Amino acid sequence: MKINLALLKGDGIGPEIVDCSIEVLNKVAGKYGHEITYTALLAGGCAIDAVGEPLPRETVERCLASDSVLLGAVGGPKWDTLPGHLRPERALLGIRKALGLYANIRPAKLYTALKDRCPLRSSDGFDIVIVRELTGGIYFGESGRREGEGGTEAYDTECYSTFEIERIGRVAFETALKRGHKVTSIDKANVLESSRLWRETMHKLAAEYKNVEYSDMLVDNAAMQLIKNPSQFDVIVTSNIFGDILSDEASQLTGSIGLLPSASLGDGTRGMYEPIHGSAPDIAGKGIANPIATILSVAMMLRYSFSLSEEADCIERAVEQTLNNGYFTGDIGGNMTSREITEKILELI
Ligand code: NAD
Repeated sequence: MKINLALLKGDGIGPEIVDCSIEVLNKVAGKYGHEITYTALLAGGCAIDAVGEPLPRETVERCLASDSVLLGAVGGPKWDTLPGHLRPERALLGIRKALGLYANIRPAKLYTALKDRCPLRSSDGFDIVIVRELTGGIYFGESGRREGEGGTEAYDTECYSTFEIERIGRVAFETALKRGHKVTSIDKANVLESSRLWRETMHKLAAEYKNVEYSDMLVDNAAMQLIKNPSQFDVIVTSNIFGDILSDEASQLTGSIGLLPSASLGDGTRGMYEPIHGSAPDIAGKGIANPIATILSVAMMLRYSFSLSEEADCIERAVEQTLNNGYFTGDIGGNMTSREITEKILELI
């Protein structure tokens, strides 16, 4: 297979971890006979420095012409004082919008080798995928300020259409079919009208997927259940704001931010893949960042965008075996450099 990949290395540790993941991708491609070409593009703080804006038009156009996008991370203290529309993070929203990426898929898995890093006193392991709606809800609804009787008022609006709910629901049910055949939809239907439409729509969809076990859960209960018994979940589907919060909660249960990949998908096969962590300015340039989240993002890309499951499994197995062999970077209690741990993964591929 020929794959044309857009690379947005970004800022801070972004370039270091993307470079490690490319080595892994090249090794797998060589092993399975694929040809990968890369186009490095500017996005984030580095784009602001080079051309004065976080997401140059050329970046968007070349991402649209690519088969998929791999992103490191954007942002850092250097650009923190810029006005909102010029902040590096704008690049993420802009790319998601331009590529029509409405589903954010975040796996949170507890590796056996890292069980003692899980903050829960007893955990028998878990393997969850959170499917978060990414382009609707309160983050994109009408918002503003006005003068009221109690002084200045501020408001944000949550609005979801049946179309948006059904579209993200399908992603969740289809994902469950490839895993544990279980979907939990999380909402706040006891209070919010938008959640009641969410629930009704999910129920209609669940009737189509008879071989997927479906349940609803209120978001406050879900926050508790994730801590009480995370292994009860397989696929979680939820709105933009609830998914934002719950996926961060779930990520902490795995013991490290440096291990978790993510995918943002739309209707076609093109997606954007990135680690869930940021640009880690405190360790940038030191060569000690954990590259595993980005390496696993590459595995997700092979699976979701190119249906190369065997290749994805190969990377995931090599990562798990590396951890089982006791090779850890600083964030997970070891002292290996990014390069050293990448070498161990390459050896196993
Ligand atoms: P962060 O995720 O960058 O860092 C939080 C902590 O985790 C730091 O101590 C960091 O050293 C550590 N860490 C993160 N990734 C690591 C890795 N791979 N290996 C080892 N340790 C790792 O979050 P932050 O400090 O809140 O944000 C830093 C910058 O990143 C900010 O400008 C923020 O806006 C940006 N950010 C970008 C993204 C993105 O590009 N998707 C996401 C979150 C934050």
